[in-house]
Amino acid sequence: MGLSVGWYNPNVLPELDLGDILRLRKPHPCGGYEWRVVRLGADIGLECLSCGRRVLLERRVLKNRMKTIVRKAGEIDASNE
Ligand SMILES: [Zn+2]
Repeated sequence: MGLSVGWYNPNVLPELDLGDILRLRKPHPCGGYEWRVVRLGADIGLECLSCGRRVLLERRVLKNRMKTIVRKAGEIDASNE
């Protein structure tokens, strides 16, 4: 119904939960755009869904690199892009 969890305000890092799936503006060298949140803290831990590599990003860095939340943890994505 037009309500999208993918909407993202670039001025504010949204509340993140472990297991959320994020899409970043630039692809990982492996070609993947989507990451899962695996750690929350001063730095945010992300795991690449394509190659499984993990990185730590400062919140302000992630805020700039993040494009959308693809799916919140625990939600079943019934939509097709
Ligand atoms: Zn990767």
